Amino acid sequence: MDHDVRKSRIIAGILDTSEENEMTCPHCGGDLNITRLRPIEDWSKSFQSYDTIIECSNCFFETRASSCTMTGSVTDFDFKNITISSWCPSGSRVVTKLEHLMDYEELKELKTGNKLVEFLVVDDHVVKLIK
Ligand SMILES: [Zn+2]
Repeated sequence: MDHDVRKSRIIAGILDTSEENEMTCPHCGGDLNITRLRPIEDWSKSFQSYDTIIECSNCFFETRASSCTMTGSVTDFDFKNITISSWCPSGSRVVTKLEHLMDYEELKELKTGNKLVEFLVVDDHVVKLIK
């Protein structure tokens, strides 16, 4: 697993508010402070990312990432990439292709059901659904 993917997974775990062990440091289990600093201006993208800092209140752990959420439906996917059909802020339809870390079976279900869902995107990787 390369560094970026590992980091994305750690951050996804930290940002996951649906799990019971949310918001704890992967090193020491201490409390984490998450700060969304500012929107990242990138007009080539159809979604708004935020510069995010995650730091432990107890140890040296600190990481930075861009994070955002995207609402849309899965139009296509394979083991590496996912294509999401969504809307940009101006209201027009956009299609975004990104790498993903999601479960293949889960994506299959989503595509078949053609459901509108919300994705968590960390460092341009679709990491999971927000439930
Ligand atoms: Zn810590």
